[in-house]
Amino acid sequence: MAEHLLKILVVGDGNVGKSSFVHRYVNGQFNNAYKMTVGVDFSVKVLHWSDKEKVRLQLWDIAGQERFISMTRIYYKGALGCVVMFDVTSSASLLSCRRWKQDLDNKAMLPNGDSIPCILLANKCDLAERVVSAESIGRFSEANGFVTWMEISVKDNKNVGEAMRRLVEEILLIQ
Ligand code: GDP
Repeated sequence: MAEHLLKILVVGDGNVGKSSFVHRYVNGQFNNAYKMTVGVDFSVKVLHWSDKEKVRLQLWDIAGQERFISMTRIYYKGALGCVVMFDVTSSASLLSCRRWKQDLDNKAMLPNGDSIPCILLANKCDLAERVVSAESIGRFSEANGFVTWMEISVKDNKNVGEAMRRLVEEILLIQ
């Protein structure tokens, strides 16, 4: 059985739902009061990808460190994929994704020099106070070099597993 170890970063402005996302994906729970320890840390999830392949994901959340938009290179070292997240009720959090993506491309790259696959996630789509349209997210995603984008709700557990599956597929394609 082949085992892939994939380091995946989760970035985006504070309060968009990054810690909740990792917690939901790894532990299957949503808890309004949940807060990960402040500081760079990672969670592990193992996927039985196929009869012959196992995938061990290391999810690195920048919990509480968003103000250091320029993260240390250690955080980026060896990353093979990235989730960039924003909150659909905050257009500022979507605009920030451009910086997050540029910072990523400046500091992390594949051994061949290509940029690492990155998915744009539009979280909190359960909320009625949504301010960004699917069309504008789609344009933004394409203009900024994301592999794709998806609407998710960590709260309602919508598209959480699907989004990670999509990213892992993209990473494995280029391994
Ligand atoms: P982080 O700072 O990016 O790690 O964000 P958190 O995971 O701490 O989430 C910030 C707040 O948004 C918390 O109160 C969460 O409960 C809430 N939240 C996270 N995901 C969702 C979601 O899908 N829908 C709604 N309505 N709230 C969410």
